[in-house]
Amino acid sequence: MKTNFKKKGENSLRVIPLGGLNEIGKNMTVLEYKDEILIIDCGLSFPDDEMYGIDIVLPDFTYLIKNASKIKGIVITHGHEDHIGGIPFFLKHINVPIYGTRLPLGLIGNKLKEHRLTANLNVIKAGDTFKLGCFKVETIRTTHSIVDSICLSIETPVGVVFHTGDFKIDYTPLDGEPIDFHRLAEIGKKGVLLMLADSTNAIRAGFTASEKIVGKALESIFRDSTTRIIVATFSSNVHRVQRIVDNAVMFDRRVAISGRSMVNVVNLAMELGYLKIPAGVLIDINKIRGIPDKNIVIVTTGSQGEPMAALSRMAAGDHKAIQIKKGDMVILSSSPIPGNEKTVSNIVNKLFEKGAQVIYSDIADIHVSGHACEEELKLMHVLIKPKFFMPVHGEYRHLMAHAAIAENLGQKPENVFILNNGKVLNLTANSAFITHEDIPSEPVLVDGLGVGDVGNIVLRDRKLLSESGLIIVVAAIDRATGEICSGPDIISRGFVYVRENEDLIEEARVVVCKALDKCVDGNIREWNALKSAVRDSLRSFIYEKTKRSPVILPIFLEV
Ligand SMILES: [Zn+2]
Ligand SMILES: [Zn+2]
Repeated sequence: MKTNFKKKGENSLRVIPLGGLNEIGKNMTVLEYKDEILIIDCGLSFPDDEMYGIDIVLPDFTYLIKNASKIKGIVITHGHEDHIGGIPFFLKHINVPIYGTRLPLGLIGNKLKEHRLTANLNVIKAGDTFKLGCFKVETIRTTHSIVDSICLSIETPVGVVFHTGDFKIDYTPLDGEPIDFHRLAEIGKKGVLLMLADSTNAIRAGFTASEKIVGKALESIFRDSTTRIIVATFSSNVHRVQRIVDNAVMFDRRVAISGRSMVNVVNLAMELGYLKIPAGVLIDINKIRGIPDKNIVIVTTGSQGEPMAALSRMAAGDHKAIQIKKGDMVILSSSPIPGNEKTVSNIVNKLFEKGAQVIYSDIADIHVSGHACEEELKLMHVLIKPKFFMPVHGEYRHLMAHAAIAENLGQKPENVFILNNGKVLNLTANSAFITHEDIPSEPVLVDGLGVGDVGNIVLRDRKLLSESGLIIVVAAIDRATGEICSGPDIISRGFVYVRENEDLIEEARVVVCKALDKCVDGNIREWNALKSAVRDSLRSFIYEKTKRSPVILPIFLEV
C-alpha cells in the first residue's frame, strides 16, 4: 500500500497556474512531470486602482527559478500582452527556449531588443507537433482578436492536456482561416484527460459576432463620411487594422499611423505579410498637412483611454501632429476593458467638446470581442469531451459560470476544478485532485526599474498618502534635557494648504509641544518613544478637527 502511494505520487502530472486565475491578465501555467517542466504563456497584467504608481504586474517566478533546471521551454498561445508581456522579465532569471507562431515571436523579439536580451526563439505554425522532454505538443489553429493564435494539445505521460488558449469561434475570419474543427474533433475522439479553457465571456449568452460585422460597420461610416476619420483600436488587432486600410483604399483615403505600439505592430505585421497595404497608401503622420480631410484616415492607439497614448494626447490637445477640430470623425473601435470605462468616457467627452463626432461601441457595431461566449464554449466542450475540466482566464465569477456551463453539458461536478493561482492540480490517468500546496503566486509589482521591491507596506503608505496626504513635524531637541531648541515646524503636503489653515497648524504645534513636554516630565528620552508620542497625540487631534488621517512623519534633530 505504501509503495503504491509513492508510485502514484511520482507518476502524476502537476498543473500549476501561476497567473490568470481570478483575474484577467498575467497568464502563466506550469505542467510538471517528474523532473520536467513545460510552461504555457508568460504574461503581464496592468495595475488596478489600488496599486499606486505601479507600471505593470508580473506572475511570481520563484517556483520556476527554484526548479530552473527542469524547464524544457515556454510555449506561447498568442501575442497579447497578458500572454507574452512577462517574457523579458522571466528571461532575465532563466534563459529557456521559447516556442510560438510568427507574430507573437516577432512581438517578443521587439521586446527583447528593448530589454537588450537575446533568446532561443523557435518559430512554429498551426498544425506542428514537437517534443519538449516528455511532453509532445501539438498546435491547432484557432481564432481570436489577434492573428496567429493556437490551441495546444499536449500529450503527457498521464494523458492529453488540452489548452484552448484565448479563442472565439469565428466562421468568417478575415484571413479565411477558421478554427480547425476537424482536428479538435479528432483530438477529442482520441481522448482528452484535462481541458483548460478560456472563461472571459462565460457569463455572456449566445455567440460572439464575427470580425466581419465590424468591417461592415466601418464601411458604412467610411462611405458616409466627408471629413477626417480617426480610428482608435488595439494595435495587436491586425485584422481590424487591415479592415481600416481596406476601407481607406476603397474610399480614396491615405493612412497615417499614430502611437508607438501601433507603428511597431504595423511594421512587424507588414514585414511578416499579415498586413497588406498597397504602395502609396501609408503616409507619415507629420506629412498629412495639405491633404484634404476627406482623403485621410488616422489609425491610433489609446482606445482604452491610456493616459500616455496618442488618442488621449489628441483629446487633451497636446498631440504634436494632430489637433482635433470640428467635424473630425473619431471611432473608438474597441470596448473598454472592465475598469477603464471612466477614463474612456472622459476621452469621449473631451473629443465631443472639441467638436468631433465620436462613435464608440455603444452606438455602432464597431467592435467585437475576441473571446468565446456561452454557445461557443459549449461547442468546444462537446468537441474535446475532457475527462477533467479546469476553467482558466477569468475572474472568479467567469470561472464559476464556465464550470456551470460544463456541468450543464453533463460534466461531473467532481471532475471540475476551480483553482487559485499557486494551487496544484495533481493528475493521473484516472484521478485528479487539488493538493494542499501553496506555490508562491502573489502579484509581483514593477515600478520603474524596480521589480518586486514594492510590497504591501509600501503600497499601504502610497494609499494613505494618496487619501489624506502627509504632515511632517520638524523639531530640534536637546537630547540631554528633552527641551525643544527650535520648532516644532509643521509642513504639509496633500493634507491642507498651510497658509489658508494657519489656525489649525498653530493648534497642531501646541499639541506637539504639549506631547513633548509630557515626555520630558515622564523622563522619556528614547527617540522612538518621543516620535510615537508626537504621532499619537497629533493623529487624534487632527482626526478630531478634520476627520482625516494623514500620514504623520516626525523628524527630530539632535542638538
Ligand atoms: Zn488574447
Ligand atoms: Zn488573454
